Amino acid sequence: MDFEKLWNRVSKAKRIGICGHVRPDGDCVGSCLGMYNYILSRFGKEADVYMEEVSPEFLFLNGSDKVIKDYPDAEKYDVFFALDSGDAERLGEGSKYLKTAGYTYCFDHHPTNIGYCNENMIVPTDAATAELLATIFEEQYIDINTANCLYLGIVHDTGVFKHSNVTRKTMEIAGMLIEKGVIPGDIIDKTFYEKTYVQNQILGRCLMESILLMDGKVIVSYIPTEIQKFYGIGNSDMGGIIDQLRITKGVEVAILLKEANKREWKVSLRSNSIVDVSKISVMFAGGGHVRAAGCTMYGSAHDCINSLTKEIEKQLS
Ligand code: 5GP
Ligand code: MN
Repeated sequence: MDFEKLWNRVSKAKRIGICGHVRPDGDCVGSCLGMYNYILSRFGKEADVYMEEVSPEFLFLNGSDKVIKDYPDAEKYDVFFALDSGDAERLGEGSKYLKTAGYTYCFDHHPTNIGYCNENMIVPTDAATAELLATIFEEQYIDINTANCLYLGIVHDTGVFKHSNVTRKTMEIAGMLIEKGVIPGDIIDKTFYEKTYVQNQILGRCLMESILLMDGKVIVSYIPTEIQKFYGIGNSDMGGIIDQLRITKGVEVAILLKEANKREWKVSLRSNSIVDVSKISVMFAGGGHVRAAGCTMYGSAHDCINSLTKEIEKQLS
């Protein structure tokens, strides 16, 4: 990718759009707002940032209050960035801006991404899209606002620097961001470990109700809509549950099913060392990484679990 051309386009653009994926996670929010703050710091320009929602714990990031959650039809951007989204559909309603934009760029780290913009930079060895952005941003223009966003993105996609995607480069970038003024403990505790009472309750319930399958190699839990309603929780309250399931001793694959609509399940998959869960989620029209992936499945929870364990069994045998 020609970065001189990229920044030239940005400096000339009258209107800049930035969009993340549906159900945005920490890396998505950190990447989109990281790009927003970098453009603001380097060019003094505002950009429109699109995401369905921003979890309350991310609202301390500069620009989070300006995120646009509805997606007006008529918007046309000179330059449009699609960030952390493995395919155009995952941009949700934001995908329509790809068609009307003057020039589009995709920055992502999902290995299942085949590129859907005018220019695509997909680096699966980068732990987070925020890490990738840190490598293309010129260090002198990375201010504290940009640094906070990128650090948060890296923290969330690495499970606080502990997943197998962490490299020397990840840590060096984190170090650079600390030099820019990031306070690691603040971001890590406030956005990753801190849970509301009800979030802890739902975590506890998922662990209590979890089931071991395949001689304890697979752990499964599911959260029907009635339960979500009972606790008054949304998608952003169920983060971290899958990670707690995954670290159960002896487990290779953790499965969490969150019912989104009647008999429609948002599935999260994690593996520890053998199973490629991205391969499995791609079979069900999803995507992700080798050790962390997801998809949407339909039917009863038991049907979904059966279909998934069949595929896991194939990989384990
Ligand atoms: P999570 O389980 O945290 O929702 O997602 C884990 C990983 O899988 C993330 O990298 C996410 O981008 C990817 N992923 C989750 N659900 C889907 C999906 O429905 N489609 C695609 N393409 N990727 C997904
Ligand atoms: Mn990511």
